[in-house]
Amino acid sequence: MKVKVVAQILEANDRIAAENRRLFKDSGVYVINLMSAPGAGKTSLIESTIKELHNKLRIGVIEGDIAGTDDAQRIESLGIPVVQINTGGACHLDANMISEAITDLPLKDLALLIIENVGNLVCPSEFKVGEDMKIMILSITEGDDKPLKYPLMFQESSALILNKIDLLPHTNADLKKIKNNSLSLNPSLKIFEVSCKTGEGISEWTSWLQSLVA
Ligand code: MG
Ligand code: ZN
Repeated sequence: MKVKVVAQILEANDRIAAENRRLFKDSGVYVINLMSAPGAGKTSLIESTIKELHNKLRIGVIEGDIAGTDDAQRIESLGIPVVQINTGGACHLDANMISEAITDLPLKDLALLIIENVGNLVCPSEFKVGEDMKIMILSITEGDDKPLKYPLMFQESSALILNKIDLLPHTNADLKKIKNNSLSLNPSLKIFEVSCKTGEGISEWTSWLQSLVA
């Protein structure tokens, strides 16, 4: 019975996600759904991406958090249109939340919409919101065992961004193991090594993203 309920929720979600997707396509906006554990650097990556691309692309952002507006304020201070969703306890964004949030964004003026999901390595990967692709961030300080422990996240993502690469000498994380295990789950996964702190690797990521939007 419980399984049936979950299936119906996902089915209803997929229907709304398909409506969002149609609206995004009609508006000519490319949409990415950014997922990670709390503290991996989602908002920092969005800030770095905006700094690299805002002269080339019109960008909008949706911030998903259980509570608070800190992240939306960081994005707003860069002069970027942003909507904050507070899920009030829910640990992921769903298509209905996005459908309501986009009514407050100038979709037709945007080339790229970045959706920052709630920090969580589990259910954000189960819910479509109408995105063109899911992207995940794993900071190397989270440990090299994460791909095999949270496989769906790695399987659903088009790209894996390994953040905090500047901290590698200070951890026991095995970078080769992270990459090999990630690719064993998803052979077409595109992998970037970046540091939002030092700026290393950011232009490789943003060039790739820009080529997809164009
Ligand atoms: Mg954040
Ligand atoms: Zn959840």
